[in-house]
Amino acid sequence: MQLTKNKVAVLNFTLKNKDGEIIDETNDGTFTYLHGARNLISGLENALENKQAGDKISVVIEPKDAYGEHDQEKVERVPLDMFPPEVEIREGLQFDSESADGEPIVVTVIEIDAGEVVVDGNHSMAGVELHFDVELVEVREATAQELEHGHVHGPHGHDH
Ligand code: ZN
Repeated sequence: MQLTKNKVAVLNFTLKNKDGEIIDETNDGTFTYLHGARNLISGLENALENKQAGDKISVVIEPKDAYGEHDQEKVERVPLDMFPPEVEIREGLQFDSESADGEPIVVTVIEIDAGEVVVDGNHSMAGVELHFDVELVEVREATAQELEHGHVHGPHGHDH
């Protein structure tokens, strides 16, 4: 069966950055998604279009087809005393915030400098070129309920 819109795919994949370091990996057949429902980054979804179970692909995806370019405007300096005193601010700390237009985002502390905290609201993989090795393990029809929900359900289905 070919992978086309509204089919469910099971993938095994290894994701590396351009230096060959592994960023993410799933090889036990537990990663599934609904094709054509924008549940996957567009570059990978496009590369898998019309592939069949058993096919293996290697693809390099530019940031614009993945998590976007790194946007310097999302890097802000915030006075340290804006943070609750019980929170120990350190590099790498992540917390929930809101973007300028009210969208929920995760921001990461990237630097603490002269009484100011530098936070980055970009996705952790923004600006990163993604190198995927993917095996398309299985392709099946989506159920009516999966299509209605716009995502995949587990082997026994569920009702969320
Ligand atoms: Zn559901």
